[in-house]
Amino acid sequence: MATPHLQNYIDGRWTDAASGEAFEDLDPATGEVIATAAKSAKGDVDRAVDAARRAANAWRLHPAPKRGEILYRAGEIMLRRKDDLARDMTREMGKVLAEARGDVQEGIDMTYYMAGEGRRQFGDVVPAELPNKWAMAMRAPLGVVAAITPWNFPLAIPTWKIMPALVLGNAVVFKPASYTPLLAVRLVEILEEAGLPKGVLNLVLGPGGELGDALVTHPGVDLVSFTGSSEVGAHISEVAGRQLKRVACELGGKNAIVVMDDADLDLSIEGIVWSAFGTSGQRCTAASRVITHRSRADELVERLVGRTKKLRMGHGLEPTTDLGPVVSSDAQQKVHGYMSIAEQDGASVAAGGRIPTNGALAKGFFHEPTVLVDVKPNMRVAQEEIFGPVTAVIEVTDIDEAIRVVNSTRYGLSCSIYTKNIDNAFVFMRDAETGLVYVNAGTIGAEIQLPFGGMKATGNGHREAGRAALDTYAEWKSLYVDFSGKLQRAQMDDVSSPG
Ligand code: NDP
Repeated sequence: MATPHLQNYIDGRWTDAASGEAFEDLDPATGEVIATAAKSAKGDVDRAVDAARRAANAWRLHPAPKRGEILYRAGEIMLRRKDDLARDMTREMGKVLAEARGDVQEGIDMTYYMAGEGRRQFGDVVPAELPNKWAMAMRAPLGVVAAITPWNFPLAIPTWKIMPALVLGNAVVFKPASYTPLLAVRLVEILEEAGLPKGVLNLVLGPGGELGDALVTHPGVDLVSFTGSSEVGAHISEVAGRQLKRVACELGGKNAIVVMDDADLDLSIEGIVWSAFGTSGQRCTAASRVITHRSRADELVERLVGRTKKLRMGHGLEPTTDLGPVVSSDAQQKVHGYMSIAEQDGASVAAGGRIPTNGALAKGFFHEPTVLVDVKPNMRVAQEEIFGPVTAVIEVTDIDEAIRVVNSTRYGLSCSIYTKNIDNAFVFMRDAETGLVYVNAGTIGAEIQLPFGGMKATGNGHREAGRAALDTYAEWKSLYVDFSGKLQRAQMDDVSSPG
C-alpha cells in the first residue's frame, strides 16, 4: 500500500505546502514511515490565518445552537470511527491501544460537552443600581484562535481547544505536533464532514520552530492557545506578550503521588504503576515522583520494583503490551540521559534503566520502565520533567514534609495522596499547589467537565475543559441598557430614592 500523504486544510481545501516540501511521520515502535506530511512555512500560515479571518465574522453571527449541532455531528462521527482513530494513534505515537481508545473517548466527551454549550454559554443578568436600567454580561468570541498542540494526546488535546473555540464563535488555525499529523488530519476531516463552513477551521502542518513565530506573531491571530513544553510556552508568551496578544498556556508537570503510613499499599501501587508508566510516562500528569512515608518505604519499593519488572514492552497494537515506546529517538535519549544524571546526584536505579537492544524492541524507541530510589527532593530527577517511564521515590516523615516536597518544584499540575486519614486528606487538598488533586487515586484521569490546568510554571492561569474553558476562548462583554429616558449617573451620591 502506498504511504499516505497528509495535506494542509486551508479555506476548505486540502492543499500541499507552497514549497511542495514534506516530512515523514514515523511509527515509534518500529521506526517505519507511516505517512508523509506537508512541511509548511510562513506563507502557508499567512494563507491559513487570512482564511480564518475572512470566515470569522459569518461564523460569529451563525447562531450558537447551530454551531453546537455541527459539533454534535462531529462527536457522532468520532464515536463511529473510534477504533480506526485509536489504531492510527497507536501507530503514530505509540501509546497502547486501550489508552488510545481512552484518548479518542476524551475527544468525543469534549465534543459532546461543547456541543451542549451551543445552547448554554450562560451569561449574567444582575440588578442595576439605578432605576429603569438593565445590566447583563455575555460572552463574545475573540476572533481567530491559534491552537498549538503536543503529540501525547493527539486527539483529545486538539478537541479541548478547537471545540470550545468553535462553539463560542471563533475561527481556528490548528498547528499540531509534527509527530502526530495523521490524527490532526483525521480530526479536521471529521469536522469538515460534520458541516463546518470553509475557512472556520484551518490546519497547517510542519515544524513548530519555523511555523510557530509566524503564527504566534501574526496580527490576524487574537489568542494563542498552546499546550506543550515550558520552554516553548515561555517563548510564545514572550513574543505574543509584546503584541499584548492573549496567550493560554498548559505546560509541563512534575507530579507526585504521596503514600502515607496508613495507605492501602495494594491500591497505592496500582495507582503508581498506572500513573507513572501509562502512555510510557508521557502524560503531562504522569507521576514522576512517589513520596512515601518512611515507615512504608521498604515494602513499597520492593513491591513497586517487582511490579515494574513484570511490565511488558512492545507494539501498542499487541494485546499483551503494557508499555509502548516513547515518541522518538530524541525522547529515548533524553529519558536515558536521566539515568546517569540520577546516579551522578547520588540516586540509584532499582528497576529498569536501560534501552532494550534485542529483537523487535531494538527497532523502536523503547525505554525500560524505571524506578529510581535514594532520591532527594532537590535532585534534578526530582525537579525536572523527564517525560518518560521513570519515577523517583522520595522518603518523608510526616504529612507536612510530604506537602512541602510535593510543592517543592516549579510545576503545579497534578498530585495525589493515598491515606485513610480524612484530616490529612483535607489538609492535602487545601495545601497542595496543583491544579488537580486526587485522593486515593493516581495523578492521571481528569474528567472533561471540570477545569484542567496547572498552577505556578505549569501555566499562566487559564484552564482548559469544563465551564472554565469558556473563559479562555471568549471575552466578557458587559451590557447596560438605560430605559429611564434621562441621564442617570452611576456611582454618584445623588441617586433619587426609590418610588
Ligand atoms: P513542545 O513544546 O515541543 O511542542 C508543542 C507544540 O508546540 C508542537 O506542536 C510543536 O511543534 C510546537 N512548537 C515548537 N516550537 C514552537 C515555537 N517556537 N512556537 C510555536 N510552537 C512551537 O512539546 P511536546 O510536543 O514535546 O509535548 C510535551 C510537553 O507538553 C511536555 O512538557 C508536557 O508536559 C506538555 N503537556 C502539557 C499538558 C498540560 O495540559 N499541562 C498536556 C500535555 C502535554 P513541533 O511538534 O513541530 O515541534
